[in-house]
Amino acid sequence: MSADTILYIIVAILVVNYLWEQLLDLLNLNHQKDHPPKELADVCDQATYRKTLAYHRAQTKFGFVSSAISFVALLVLLLTGAFGELDSWLHQYIDNEILLALSFFGILFLVADILSIPLQWYNTFVLEEKFGFNKTTVPTFWLDKLKGYLLAAVLAGPLVWLLLFLIDRLGPAFWIYFVLAIGLFSLFLNVFYTSLILPLFNKLTPLPDGELKRAIEVYASKVSFPLSNILVIDGSKRSSKSNAFFSGIGKKKKIVLYDTLIENHSIEELVSILAHEVGHYRKKHVIQNFVLSLIQSAVMMFLLSRMITQESLSLALGAQQTSIHLNLLAFGMLYAPVSKLLGVFLNILSRKNEFQADAFAAKTADKSALASALKNLSVDNLSNLWPHHWFVFFHYSHPPLVQRLRALDLEN
Ligand SMILES: [Zn+2]
Repeated sequence: MSADTILYIIVAILVVNYLWEQLLDLLNLNHQKDHPPKELADVCDQATYRKTLAYHRAQTKFGFVSSAISFVALLVLLLTGAFGELDSWLHQYIDNEILLALSFFGILFLVADILSIPLQWYNTFVLEEKFGFNKTTVPTFWLDKLKGYLLAAVLAGPLVWLLLFLIDRLGPAFWIYFVLAIGLFSLFLNVFYTSLILPLFNKLTPLPDGELKRAIEVYASKVSFPLSNILVIDGSKRSSKSNAFFSGIGKKKKIVLYDTLIENHSIEELVSILAHEVGHYRKKHVIQNFVLSLIQSAVMMFLLSRMITQESLSLALGAQQTSIHLNLLAFGMLYAPVSKLLGVFLNILSRKNEFQADAFAAKTADKSALASALKNLSVDNLSNLWPHHWFVFFHYSHPPLVQRLRALDLEN
């Protein structure tokens, strides 16, 4: 295939994807009604409902602006051959292929992120602030940026280096070894996430003794699930939104509760949320997700191995000569539709898993407490209560609230 053809394919993917996402957003925006779903009548009055509508509208508008900016920017970079220019410019100063590639990706990442700071700033200090969610201070904002850059360098740097090293040494056979490396790397991240990475950004403390801890222990012994590691995270440092999640595997498994969650929910509700998380573990969703993401990486790396030496990929981005990093970038853009398709499949599965975890919680804990926890969470976070079914199908990893409530109703 000629370089021009590849460039046209990349541009076509970009345009179709952009238009498609805008269409989904528009459908979602126009799918709102003038009243909350009847299932929420007890927790969502008209004033709160109007607030969720306003929040959803503000978020969608912000999304329109930011995706238009990145769409146009990427289109200009592609059509002017700017990626190739950057590569030639770096070639003057750096000889080493791997160092060149790391600088190339490093510069792209930094420039893209720095240019998007005004948007991130607006989102945090204007949009989220207006709806009372933002708790981030200006120093925290900048410190987060700095730590984020360092973390990206420490985590992504060695991985990119390894990829280039393996391609250089093994040619197209690199993909099997790199998938193994990704597997080990994500296992490492999974096990050490709460002990090494999260503490860089948040304070984690063991759940203190008290009524909540006792209630959790009663539940844990009832389902014979060891719950010695329950951590409270100071999510309130950045936002008043709340959440809970599971992390790690085997003996390292931990449940993390946001301080904002504990503040806004009753003990029964918290135990039912915890039961939902235990359900994910019991139904083997944690292992399933790990295996699926490994399969996803394998598909990607296999396809990459077929294309990594194609000269025309680099030329399509405006380069004078082929280089591995330009080929990687072009491949990333060509791979977008495959990744999207796999993402839809993973979302379908994830929504199914959420129903299973809810059912587990309904059976082992208090069903009505889970229902009220879900309703309160949704209203407190001003979630969209009338998502369009297409938007749900393509983007939602969790079923819409009303569907979850109806499924809970059917549980015994
Ligand atoms: Zn869940």
